Amino acid sequence: MIQEWLMTTLQLLVAGLAVTLVALSTQLDTGPGLTGASLVTLLSFGEVLADLIRNYTALETSIGAVSRLRSFSEGVVPEDKSDEDIIPPPEWPHCGLVDIKNVSASYYVEADGDYTAPSHKDLVVKSLSLTITPGQKLAICGRTGSGKSTLILLLLRLLDPLPSCGENMEIDGLPVHRINRAALRKRLIAIPQDPVFLPDGSSVKSNVDPFAEATDEECVAALATVKLSAFVTDRGGLDAGMSAADLSAGQKQLFSLGRAVLRKRVRDRLTASEKRGGILLLDEVSSSVDRVTDREMQEIIRQEFDMYTIIMVSHRLDMVVEYFDRVIVLDQGTVIEDGHPGHLKDNGSRFGELWAHGKYEPREITK
Ligand code: ATP
Ligand code: MG
Repeated sequence: MIQEWLMTTLQLLVAGLAVTLVALSTQLDTGPGLTGASLVTLLSFGEVLADLIRNYTALETSIGAVSRLRSFSEGVVPEDKSDEDIIPPPEWPHCGLVDIKNVSASYYVEADGDYTAPSHKDLVVKSLSLTITPGQKLAICGRTGSGKSTLILLLLRLLDPLPSCGENMEIDGLPVHRINRAALRKRLIAIPQDPVFLPDGSSVKSNVDPFAEATDEECVAALATVKLSAFVTDRGGLDAGMSAADLSAGQKQLFSLGRAVLRKRVRDRLTASEKRGGILLLDEVSSSVDRVTDREMQEIIRQEFDMYTIIMVSHRLDMVVEYFDRVIVLDQGTVIEDGHPGHLKDNGSRFGELWAHGKYEPREITK
């Protein structure tokens, strides 16, 4: 607005000068040639002035961006540490064995390690020990705020455990604290609680395959698996632009699942290994879809990630009972129950309590 106002003022100034010029030339009786030449010069002077102002403001904006980038690169401590030097091979983790021993974590620890020990109430995960065997399908349940997503963040190293227990996590025999973070996040397949999309206008293909590793056929097949083919055809194909606002909440979750399926297929193709295991982390991936779609999603997950160790956070307990072979219940960052969902639901346990409260009973429709 200020720029537009400046332009208007400049043009008014030039108009004022032109009027003065014409008034003078008529009063002073100068030749028509001279008056014409002066008017043309005056008009181009106005344009030059406007260009000057426009370029100057563009320069100002760009310099502002450079200065922000500079202060970002100087001021932000990179998350990588010097001893995180293991880059596991692409087929890692081929079994999917997760071993967590006595790990605690808090969101209030300074990244540079210079911290005051957080008080017990600040701990979001408290002395948690968990061994997940290869191929196990583990569900994590618990009340809102019990630390389920935090556990997923710990496995992806988006949150560091307390330094005193930083070395207590292993995946397939490799100490997680020594693995390069970017490599770790590329090797594990994860779907976050909030679906993430590239900025509006990015193509469907770059959204489903942000690392540009898959072929067009693979992308189409993965989206067809999660039943989003119609969405892609409506948009005009894989290369058409899309925006996250075009998708409903449930469709966003299906899209995220499609992305995971695609990553798994590309991983299989690139590694061509006999050992097809891996780790899949799912954080409430079906919270916004209806039960029929939820069941379809679980079926897709079971078919595609058959050999994988699956760790899924879920509030849909009927799906947990049906599709998972182990469940842990978290409460204030500790595991309060661990067992087979089918057994736990019937014997007065906390899981049984959650099950009884959330049980889905289709009501009869009466007129
Ligand atoms: P939900 O079922 O709602 O997803 P959750 O079990 O996944 O819940 P978490 O997100 O793991 O819960 O949060 C556990 C605790 O950690 C909460 O009490 C919350 O206050 C705290 N917490 C979560 N994220 C942050 C954060 N970025 N900064 C500080 N505290 C956080
Ligand atoms: Mg959560």
